[in-house]
Amino acid sequence: MIDLLIKNGAVITMDAKRTVIENCDVAIDKGKIVSIGVGLRLDAKKTLQANGCVVCPGFVNGHSHVYQSLIEGIGYDMHFDPWNWRFLFPVVSKVTQENAQAGAALAALEMIKNGVTTISDHWYLHTDMENINRVTEVFDQAGMRSQMVFGLLDQTFAGERIDSEYMTMIQSEDLLLKEAVRFFKKWHGTKRTTVALGPGSTEDISESLMIKTVQLAKELNINVSTHVAGWIEINSYTMRRFAERDLEHFQTLGLTGPHGVMFHAVWVSDREIDIIAKTGTKVVHCPIANSYLGYGIAPISQMLSRGITVGLGTDGAASYTYDMLEVGRTAGILQKATKLDAESVTAEQIMEMLTIQGAKVLGLDEEVGSLETGKKADVIVVEFNAPHLLPGGRWLPKLIYSARGSDVLHTIIEGQVIMENRKVLSMDENKVMADAIANREDLVLRAGQETRDLLAAPWPESGPAWRSIAKKLI
Ligand SMILES: [Zn+2]
Repeated sequence: MIDLLIKNGAVITMDAKRTVIENCDVAIDKGKIVSIGVGLRLDAKKTLQANGCVVCPGFVNGHSHVYQSLIEGIGYDMHFDPWNWRFLFPVVSKVTQENAQAGAALAALEMIKNGVTTISDHWYLHTDMENINRVTEVFDQAGMRSQMVFGLLDQTFAGERIDSEYMTMIQSEDLLLKEAVRFFKKWHGTKRTTVALGPGSTEDISESLMIKTVQLAKELNINVSTHVAGWIEINSYTMRRFAERDLEHFQTLGLTGPHGVMFHAVWVSDREIDIIAKTGTKVVHCPIANSYLGYGIAPISQMLSRGITVGLGTDGAASYTYDMLEVGRTAGILQKATKLDAESVTAEQIMEMLTIQGAKVLGLDEEVGSLETGKKADVIVVEFNAPHLLPGGRWLPKLIYSARGSDVLHTIIEGQVIMENRKVLSMDENKVMADAIANREDLVLRAGQETRDLLAAPWPESGPAWRSIAKKLI
């Protein structure tokens, strides 16, 4: 008697041969896939019928900052600088353990409902060193797989100086290294959680701490994951300070290599793409957040053609969504439009980035990212009986270009049915949403006048709403 049988789905396995099998069953026992095939005759404690559905690996969100889920919509249509200075800092510098927990729960709920089974969260908001533990507990209890990237910022936050009243999340080198080791020991390899180290960006971390971080990651044999060349100004900054471009500088410091994960990688030269390819460095592409903040579009079609491992991520509030299908579709469409080449990124490549390549970025591809016997059972079932998905035919292009996260019917993580018929079983959905509302109110109340002004900004006569109140903020 096995634990779970998913019957009669169109199974997109994402195995090495990229096998797709119609009317296929997936058998799961003790958290792992034990058999995949047509007409399996096995007794199961639980059976999910998947007729007319796609069954595929759960999606991997390779980069996020879930604390921002509580603050979406307060400041909007802003460039990176005002977005940080006027909107982000005044609110997030006040985040408490309870706020952190409520934000993570809201994000986890949204992700599970969108078929995300693995989340990599870059948590640097050490306003309280306990925050990251609370967030990791939320993911753990929600049943999600997570790679928690322990943030290290000892110098600035997005270029803001440490002497600002808002910089409550910046901590000293000694404390960060000590806490990173403590966090690693507590969580790495426990149940579904792994740990990585996460310098903020070149400007956020001192050279001394950066070098020690790389050394520590090597000792612990874990990823170092950081923002690289995301916004165009960072290259000028790095050039001015170190006479190198951003990714070149990371190469000099030893961050590149199979354990190096680069978020964004928008402003990379051909030479730097060459470095990424030759060193086996991984990239997480966040197309919606990059577009929304006016960062630009990462050259992922070149990266993919060089064999670079690229995953996809939402990043924080600048995505306004945790729907990875939306992220994947956007990644493809941006490349097609800007390269004037409909073939520049294919549906198959987008599916790879969403699943097996995303898992590879996090070093989890031996365990998850594809449906294969012996692998951990992170599986989603997507309902295709809907006007925007019918009539059928080839499943993959409709999944990638038409389906939405809300079409995910069941989410299964390590054999546990976390969502069944769109009802999340591992969380109290109403409580999570009520807590989110209460914590958002609490944060806004304590954030101060700038935030209240942003929320009260009137419909502008022209241009972005925040500008109509900007004079008062300077
Ligand atoms: Zn980010």
